[in-house]
Amino acid sequence: MSRQTKTNHDLISRVRDAGVVGEGGAGFPAHVKYDTRVDTVIANGCECEPLLYSDQYIMDTFPEQIVRAMEAVMTSAGASRGVIGIKGKYTGIGLKFEAAIAGTGIELARLDNFYPAGDEQILIHEITGKTVPPLGLPKDQGIVVANVGSLYSVDNAMNQIPMTRKVVTVTGEVNRPSVIQVPLGTGIKECIDQCGGFCVPDPVVVVGGPMMGRFLDDPADIEKEVVTKTCGGLIVLPRGHYLHQAATLLPEVMQKRAATACIQCRLCSEMCPRFLVGHVFETHRVMRAFAGNTGFEIDAAQAMMCCECGVCELFACPMGISPRRVNAFLKNKFRQEKVEYEGPRKVAPGQSRFREFRRVPTPRLAEKIGISKYLDLHPEFIGEYQPAKVSIPLSQHIGAPSAPNVIPGDRVSRGQCIADIPKGALGARIHASIAGEVIAVDRSITIKGI
Ligand code: SF4
Ligand code: SF4
Repeated sequence: MSRQTKTNHDLISRVRDAGVVGEGGAGFPAHVKYDTRVDTVIANGCECEPLLYSDQYIMDTFPEQIVRAMEAVMTSAGASRGVIGIKGKYTGIGLKFEAAIAGTGIELARLDNFYPAGDEQILIHEITGKTVPPLGLPKDQGIVVANVGSLYSVDNAMNQIPMTRKVVTVTGEVNRPSVIQVPLGTGIKECIDQCGGFCVPDPVVVVGGPMMGRFLDDPADIEKEVVTKTCGGLIVLPRGHYLHQAATLLPEVMQKRAATACIQCRLCSEMCPRFLVGHVFETHRVMRAFAGNTGFEIDAAQAMMCCECGVCELFACPMGISPRRVNAFLKNKFRQEKVEYEGPRKVAPGQSRFREFRRVPTPRLAEKIGISKYLDLHPEFIGEYQPAKVSIPLSQHIGAPSAPNVIPGDRVSRGQCIADIPKGALGARIHASIAGEVIAVDRSITIKGI
C-alpha cells in the first residue's frame, strides 16, 4: 500500500492549523480525534439523512482527495485496515472510488439504503460486526470513523488550505433545490435566496437533516443564522409540517402523552438502532419512568445512551409518542445537574440478530414523515456563492469557543486565522472565509468583503 510519508505530528498539526472538525456530526475537533492509534479507519460516506446530497457531491467530485486523506490518517494512526462505507445505490460514486482505491488496499463497502446507516456506531457494526459499548467511543474497538467531508478538509489541510467553505444542500420548499458551496458565516436566508427563495408563504427551516436537524421557526432566526462547519443541509418545510409539530412538543405535553398513551408495547426499544447493535438500552423503560411510575426511576438514566436518531419517535411508536424527545430532555437535565451514567454498559450480541429485519428503509421513512414528495428533487450543484458579508461564529465545534485575534477595523485575507484555540482547551481554529474588513467581534467575527 502506498502511504503518505508525513509523520503523525505533521498531519495532526496541519489538521489543527486548518481548523478541521467532524463535519458529519457535532463538530469534534479532528486533530484530537485523529491523534490516536487504531487498527481500522472507516470513511463515512453514507449520508443517511433523507434529502441530503452534500456528501454525495463531495465524494463524486473529490474521490482521490478523500482516499489520499484516508491513507494519511491510516498511516498516522497505524491502522492496517481502511474501509470507505457508501450506499450501494451510489453507483457512479462507487465506480469512482473503485478507481481511486486501486492498489491502496483500502476496501469499499456498499450498504443498503436504510436509516441511520451513517450513524457512527451503526456503520461500525455493519462493516466490522463489532459493537462499540454504550456511551463508548469507536476507538474502544480500535476504530476511527471520519466523515468524507472531513477527509476532504484533511486533504486540503495537508496542502495548508484551511477550512473556510461548506457544501450545503438546500431543498424542500424552495424554488430551485440545489447543492451550493458557500463561505462559512454566510447567512442561511442568503443561501435559500440563491436557490430561488421560499415557495411556501410561512416556512420553517431545518438546519441539517430532517430526522436529526435543528428547526428554525422564528423568521428572525432564519434571517440571523449562518452556515457553520457542521451545517450540511437546509430543508425548507411549511410551518406546521408533521416534523415541525414533532420538534416543538413541550416537555409537559410529552409527559402527559407518556403517562396516558404509552402502552408499553416495546416497539420503540425493539426498533432502536442502538438496541439492535446490542446495547442493553430499552427506551420504553425510560418512558415508563418519565411518565411518573414509581419504582422505575433508575431506568431514566438509560436516556443517556440515546443518539437521538428519531427512529422510535418518527417511525416505530404506534401511539405518536416521542421517546427521542424525552431522552433528549432527560439528557439535558442530567447534564445540567452533572449526573453521570453509573448503570451497566452491557452489550447483548444476541439482540443484533434482528437487525436485518428491522432496518428502516429510507423511502418508507420518508413516506412516514411526510417528505417523500421531496425525494425526487435531486438537487444539482450550482457552484460557489460569494456573499458581501459573513458572520463567523466563534463556537461551531465541540469544546471552548475560539479566542479572536482580530479587532474591528483589521483587514483580513481569505484563509487567515482570525480566532485560535484557547490555551489548554479543546477547540478548533477559525479562519476568515472571505477577504475584507472586520466590522464586529462578539460571539461571531463579522467581515465585510472588499
Ligand atoms: S413504542 Fe410508543 S407506546 Fe410503545 S412503549 Fe414505546 S413510547 Fe410506549
Ligand atoms: S432516538 Fe429512539 S431509536 Fe434513536 S437511539 Fe434514541 S431511543 Fe433509540
